[in-house]
Amino acid sequence: MVTTTEQLPCPNFIAGEWSTPDVADFNPVYNPSTGEQISAAPMSGPDIVDQAVEAADAAAYDWWQTPPVERIRILFRYKMLLEDAFEELAKSVTREHGKTLQEARGDVRRGIEVVEYACAITELLKGECLENIARGIDCDLQRQPVGICAGICPYNFPALVPMWMYPLAIACGNTFILKPSEKVPLTSVRLIELLEQAGLPKGVLNVVHGGRECVDAILTHPKIRAISFVGSSPVAKYIFEKGTQNGKRVQAAGGAKNFVVVMPDAEIPKAVDGMVDSAFGCAGQRCMAGSTAITVGKAADLFIPEMSAAAQAINVGPTDRTPAGQLGAVISPEHRERIKQLIETGEKEGASIVVDGRQAKVPDYPNGFYLGPTILDRVNPSMAVHEAEVFGPVLNVIRADDLQQALDVANACAFGNGCCIYTRSGQVAREFRHRVKAGMVGINVGIPAPMAYFPFSGWDYSFFGDLHIQGREAIYFYTRAKVTTTRWFSAGEGDIWHKDK
Ligand code: NAD
Repeated sequence: MVTTTEQLPCPNFIAGEWSTPDVADFNPVYNPSTGEQISAAPMSGPDIVDQAVEAADAAAYDWWQTPPVERIRILFRYKMLLEDAFEELAKSVTREHGKTLQEARGDVRRGIEVVEYACAITELLKGECLENIARGIDCDLQRQPVGICAGICPYNFPALVPMWMYPLAIACGNTFILKPSEKVPLTSVRLIELLEQAGLPKGVLNVVHGGRECVDAILTHPKIRAISFVGSSPVAKYIFEKGTQNGKRVQAAGGAKNFVVVMPDAEIPKAVDGMVDSAFGCAGQRCMAGSTAITVGKAADLFIPEMSAAAQAINVGPTDRTPAGQLGAVISPEHRERIKQLIETGEKEGASIVVDGRQAKVPDYPNGFYLGPTILDRVNPSMAVHEAEVFGPVLNVIRADDLQQALDVANACAFGNGCCIYTRSGQVAREFRHRVKAGMVGINVGIPAPMAYFPFSGWDYSFFGDLHIQGREAIYFYTRAKVTTTRWFSAGEGDIWHKDK
């Protein structure tokens, strides 16, 4: 890897002040397209987490008392500032993550949609009431903030995932501590600078960079009440267990293995189009990547040649070149090596490589972390490349005889994030949707990530907790219900009614 002399700053943000903490360790941040080091994230420890919690605590009461409509005004200003900075943010995502500019725009756009949803908080926070639950007794439910919340983020969506969390949490009246991924911390810094500019009071949102030690301090801090986590499943499970043991509410979204079933009657060119994006978009580094195609019957003979041709036509490289790269770099050389190892193991275990991206070279960028699209045919469920979340531009193909066999393969998987089917039969699609064991289902669309107003609804080993990220479930997660039952025995002095009424 190459080190540049000029590095971008990566400060923490605590109590309205930006500063780089005096810590022993920094995690290098790279531009995966060029291999250059562009920054270094400070690895903050428990003392710094403590400072951030104190700042969030000091701001909590005033922020809770701030009427929701005033919170919304800040969020509206924020939304406009995000729009103004849209291209700058997309470039930041591309620079530290390596995904193409077009993909980075999607990352930012989907995040802004969560801010737009949060602007409806006056509607979303409304409670419930029922008169006369018994004679003369009324009952109502109000939603109040849970208190100090924290968000711990993965590297693969530097803009979207942080924005899954803090806009809704603060709209609900909570204060927040954001721990971005130490691999892609810079977009978060810019996102929060803009929020500060929008007028968010000091201490309502704090940013602390770090790794495991920082996360452990969050998990055990007695004043933090709720934790949102997105990342790999083993870490998600750990966060859920340790967070709940420490009395916190936790939503922890994990990894995935998503299946795309291609029926013999599918419109193959449409399935191929969808699959190219699902399997290779963001270089496969998406929890909603369509990483396995299950072809049913003779769909294999139609789908695999077209899919292979489409994969071979993909241009690997950075997004700012002509012709622009359609497939960017992966996050690090270590991650590229892990993916290559999985492909190699797949081949040894009997899969056949029909498209091999391992030798992809990008002239002018010899130090970029590139890997070309790869397709493995005749994968079976006992292979390591099937069991692991590969998280790279690799498509496995499993051949099934019928829908039942396809469902058996998909439903035997420990993960349960997304799944989709390509077919012209409504009856087959209905059967699939009804029986498939996954929380997000697509019918004739690639693995579909739900929009801001629906929950991001992973199941099983893909999600630990109860209330999901986004949508109304997020509102429930970031609030707690207070139910008040009321009876008045006699009229007070303000009584204006005649006694006989
Ligand atoms: P990761 O689990 O390595 O890291 C996520 C966060 O956890 C980071 O902030 C990191 O600092 C922290 N962390 C890492 N190891 C830790 C440990 N041992 N103890 C405490 N904290 C730890 O994930 P990643 O590689 O950054 O992101 C990719 C993963 O995220 C993939 O598995 C992907 O599927 C998943 N993901 C899931 C969703 C979803 O909605 N389900 C969305 C995006 C990404």
